[in-house]
Amino acid sequence: MQTEQSSILDPSVWGGKIYTDGWTQGSAESVDVIEPATGAVLGSAGIASAEDVYAAATRAAAAQREWAARKPEERAAVLRRAGQVFEDHVQEFNTWIQRETGAIAPKAGLETHVAANECFDAAGLPHHPAGDVLTSDEDHWSFARRVPAGVVAVISPFNFPLILSIRSVAPALALGNAVILKPDPRTPVSGGVMIMRAFEEAGLPAGVLQLLTGGAETGAALTDAPEVRIVSFTGSTAAGRKVGEACGRNLKRAHLELGGNNAMVVLPGADVAAAASAGAFGSFMHQGQVCMTTGRHLVHESLKEEYVAALKEKAEHLPVGDPTGQVALGPIIDEKQRDNIDRIVRGAKDAGANIEAGGTYENLFYAPTVISGIDRDNPAWAEEIFGPVAPVLSFSSIEEAAEIINANEYGLSVGILGDVGQAMKLADLVHSGKVHINEQTVSDESNAPFGGVGASGTGSRFGGYTANIEAFTETQWLTMRPDIAPYPF
Ligand code: NAD
Repeated sequence: MQTEQSSILDPSVWGGKIYTDGWTQGSAESVDVIEPATGAVLGSAGIASAEDVYAAATRAAAAQREWAARKPEERAAVLRRAGQVFEDHVQEFNTWIQRETGAIAPKAGLETHVAANECFDAAGLPHHPAGDVLTSDEDHWSFARRVPAGVVAVISPFNFPLILSIRSVAPALALGNAVILKPDPRTPVSGGVMIMRAFEEAGLPAGVLQLLTGGAETGAALTDAPEVRIVSFTGSTAAGRKVGEACGRNLKRAHLELGGNNAMVVLPGADVAAAASAGAFGSFMHQGQVCMTTGRHLVHESLKEEYVAALKEKAEHLPVGDPTGQVALGPIIDEKQRDNIDRIVRGAKDAGANIEAGGTYENLFYAPTVISGIDRDNPAWAEEIFGPVAPVLSFSSIEEAAEIINANEYGLSVGILGDVGQAMKLADLVHSGKVHINEQTVSDESNAPFGGVGASGTGSRFGGYTANIEAFTETQWLTMRPDIAPYPF
C-alpha cells in the first residue's frame, strides 16, 4: 500500500519479514496481506517457522536479563516514547487498520487511541511498588517481591488486532519481560508490525520484543519453547483449550481470553428507542466481530414487539460497504468467517425463526441481521456467531433472565438496560467477567480489569496495575538477616 512521506509503516522496511534482532526473512513462506473490502493485496508478511520460534525464545531469554536490569526510568521512558509514536502517526496507523481489518474510521481511531493509552499506562508500572514487606516470627526481614516472569508470548486474533496485542505487550515489557508477539496472519500489520515499529522507534533494545507472525503451528511452538514462561492468548475457545492444554503439559502460565455470547437485557419500562440504539451498536459494531458483541438480546415480554420493530428499523437503514467510505458496517474478515455466519443464520431460518432484517450478503459484506421467534437451543442463540446478527428472545422475570444468561457456557460481558434497582438485582445473579448497567456489552478501557469466566477464559487478566502485575510477574519470597542463621546441626 502507498503511504505518505515520513512513513513509519513503509513496507520496504517490513514487507515479507519477521523481526528478531532486526527485520529478517522468516523460514516459512510469506503471506499476502489482503484488504477484505476490495480483495486488493496491501503487502506481504513474513511467516515464522517453529525453528524461528525456538531461536527467538533463546534470544529473548538473553535479552530479557539485560532489559530487566535497566533502571525503571529507562523502561518507563521507552513505554512513553512508544505511546507517543502511536499519537504522532495516528493517521497512517488508522488508514492501515481500516483497510487491513475492514474497520470504519471510529473503530480504527479507537484502536490507536487505546494503544497509546496502554503504553502511557504501562509507563507507570516500572516505578510501581514491587511487592509487600511481610511481618515474620523469625529474626529476619521478609518480603514478597514481584520479579519479571522472563519471556512472555502474546498470541492475538484478527478482529481488534492492535488493542489485543498491545494490552499484553506493553505491561509485559514495562515489568521487565521480553516478549514474542504472534499476530494472526490475516492482520499482521495492525497486530504486529505497528507495535514492532513503535518500539523500534522508541529505542527498545534488540531482542526484547520480537515479531513472529504465523498461524496455529507458530503459536503451538510458542507453547512448547522452554524459555517461554507465560502465554497470553486471545482468540477462540477452541484454540484457547489447545493452548491451555499445551501450557499445562509444559508447566507454563496461560492467560486465556476467549469467545463470548453476551446478553443484553432490556428491563420492563426501559426506553425502547435508546435500548434499540444500544442493541444495534452492541451487535453490529465492527460487523459483530468482537468477543463482547451482543449475541443475545433478552427483552422483557412487555417490550419485545416494540423492540424488535425498532431494531429491525435500525438494521435496515445502516449502510454497509467499503469502510473507508461513509458506512456503519464494513466487510467480514474472510469467506470462511462469512460462510460460518451465513450457515448459522440459515440454520435458524430452517428451524422456523423469523429473519426480520438482513440474512443476506454480497461478497464479504453481510447485512445487519435481526432474528426473532428463536428457540434457546438454536445455534444462533446458543453459539458465538462472530457476525452482525441480533437474535431476540423474551423473558418474564429477573430470575428467568438470569437463568437464560447463565445457561450459556460463556461468561464475558452482560449489558442491562433500564431500572437500576432491578439491574443491580440481576447483576448479582449472573456469571460474567463484566456487567455494564445501562450500557450495551462492548466496552474496554486500558485501566479496567478485562476478562471472562467459564468458556470465555481464565478471566480479568488485563488492565490496571493490579491485574497487569498479577499477569506478568512472579512473586518471590525474599528474606534477609544480618548474620548467617544458627541451626541445630
Ligand atoms: P483463533 O483462535 O482462530 O485465532 C486466534 C489466534 O490464535 C491467532 O493468532 C491464531 O493464529 C492462533 N492460534 C490458532 N490456533 C492455535 C493453536 N493451536 N495454538 C496457538 N495459537 C493458535 O480466533 P479468531 O477466529 O481469529 O478470533 C476470533 C475469536 O477470538 C472469537 O471467538 C472471539 O470471541 C475471540 N476473542 C476474544 C477476545 C477476548 O478478549 N476475550 C477478544 C477478541 C476475540
